[in-house]
Amino acid sequence: MIAYWNTTYVDKESVCISPDDRGFLFADGLYEVIRSYGGRLFRTPPHLERLGYGAVHLRLPTTDFGYLSEVAVELLRRNKLEQSDALIYFQVTRGAAKRSHAFPVPQPPLTVYGVANAFDAGPALKNMETGINAITVADQRWSRCDLKTTGLTANILANQMARDAGAQEAILVRDGVLLEGTHSNFMAVFGDTLVTAPASNYILSGITRMTLLELCAEQGVKTEVRPVFAKDMHQATEALIMGTTVEVTPICQIDGKPVGSGQPGPMARLLQEMLTEKILRG
Ligand code: PLP
Repeated sequence: MIAYWNTTYVDKESVCISPDDRGFLFADGLYEVIRSYGGRLFRTPPHLERLGYGAVHLRLPTTDFGYLSEVAVELLRRNKLEQSDALIYFQVTRGAAKRSHAFPVPQPPLTVYGVANAFDAGPALKNMETGINAITVADQRWSRCDLKTTGLTANILANQMARDAGAQEAILVRDGVLLEGTHSNFMAVFGDTLVTAPASNYILSGITRMTLLELCAEQGVKTEVRPVFAKDMHQATEALIMGTTVEVTPICQIDGKPVGSGQPGPMARLLQEMLTEKILRG
């Protein structure tokens, strides 16, 4: 497999990461995951803009990662994934330097890594069709969840709690508000309205969430961007997660209780159709 490694393309096995890399030592870095459908990348620019936004807030010396869109295409080409479903992963760290909390002086070159892997959409499609079960977990992440940093320990622990409970996703709750999943955003349906937490420092502003909100606005589907309180969930008729890898996946049960009918509902189906249409249109 061919990877992108600090300006060049190399065999992935030959990539050698320094033990002094600040990504390794401190999770002092950012990542992005971009989906390609049959070789066509979906919404690369907002993913790379989000990487740039993260870089500004981590005060990295480089904040424009637009060039990675060509790298993504090249990774697909070099790995013969031009006709396949794939995930492109990018990671950028503050580079390798003697361990100290403050930024290294002089600033070493950033570590930039990219890889494209074939994506088996089967399991995700099955979940989209049948829906999943979720649990709620107290959000133990830091308060800059808007930055897609590689520091994912709290997400990992919450996701494993879901797996241990026989569920597929954990919805993170802070101050009684259902914010988002461990690797997805969250929405619930009240009446005819799709409701989702506002973009803030407590959620990652997902590209899929943003795309769905835009599509809803275009197509006259009512949305409200406001907190979804756990105490109100008994009134919700549907709940959904959304993201690059899960697209739009209905949630049938939360904490063992059915959401609405306990089956994927009409809003989930509508959003799935709208997103599929958008993916086909490019
Ligand atoms: N929220 C979190 C915490 C995530 O990790 C992700 C994706 O990885 C999302 C939301 C969904 O974001 P996107 O739609 O950009 O994939």
